[in-house]
Amino acid sequence: VRAREPGNRFEKNFPFAAKGGEDKINREFKIKTAERPAGPQIKYRLPRRARQREERTAMEHKKKISVAIDGPSGAGKSTLARAAAKELGLLYVDTGAIYRTVTLYVLRRGAEPKDAAAVAALLPEAGITMDYDPGGLQRMYLNGEDVTDQIRSQEVSMAASAAASHPAVRAFLLEMQRDMAKKRSVVMDGRDIGTVVLPEADVKIFLTASSEARARRRWLELQQRGVSGDFDQLLRETRERDENDMNRAAAPLRPAADAITLDTTKINFQESLARLIEIIRERTGL
Ligand code: C5P
Repeated sequence: VRAREPGNRFEKNFPFAAKGGEDKINREFKIKTAERPAGPQIKYRLPRRARQREERTAMEHKKKISVAIDGPSGAGKSTLARAAAKELGLLYVDTGAIYRTVTLYVLRRGAEPKDAAAVAALLPEAGITMDYDPGGLQRMYLNGEDVTDQIRSQEVSMAASAAASHPAVRAFLLEMQRDMAKKRSVVMDGRDIGTVVLPEADVKIFLTASSEARARRRWLELQQRGVSGDFDQLLRETRERDENDMNRAAAPLRPAADAITLDTTKINFQESLARLIEIIRERTGL
């Protein structure tokens, strides 16, 4: 109840949660409440060690910390964000995985991801939950089934980019994401975290790299897994997803006005991680 009192810290950090927030979300996404099913519940279990680490960080800083990391696909966001979160004692939230889980449901039901009405109609039935395994990895469940690995297929990647463009899908997942940042100190990665989900995040980072560098990394990653990928096709798909994510009307991918851009085209993983941690420490005092 206290969290809803006007003017407290929570509302300053998350203005959308203030009274009238519901209307604001609907306005923002140009949809009516009746068309917006209640979002998924987060039923996350957190390994004790990760929870203790993250609670200690929040206690030492006397507040919850939120770090928003946005950027195009393949820029190394999730690997870097997860490593930085671990180093700094924050909870890593991969929001792309949540969009992918919704998309997997859409595909399984045989609907066309580009069809806004068909996708919206399926949302109330998509039972999405997540938790963290003892190693701190985020696991996704679809109606109780662990789909953490299935959501990584190329088919889901391409379809997710289409499904995520619908305002109804974005509104459906918005509260879930904000709720996590309200309860825990997080490093959250996605496309619209700094611009829409957590506009008051303590630090916002736009992590990017050239499309060639991103396609090359994806190609190497596939090679390491013993899968042969066609570089030109990977590059085309990388550009197609960029195009979708940047040009959609609802919450397009773009740096927040107060985001710090980190371009990893010419630096390796260790250098990128060091720089990322340095930026977060500078901005949060962690
Ligand atoms: O980050 P990842 O590649 O796993 O995300 C899959 C897709 O989900 C992206 O192509 C993007 O269209 C969408 N997405 C989004 N907003 C987020 C996270 C992901 O639209 N916050």
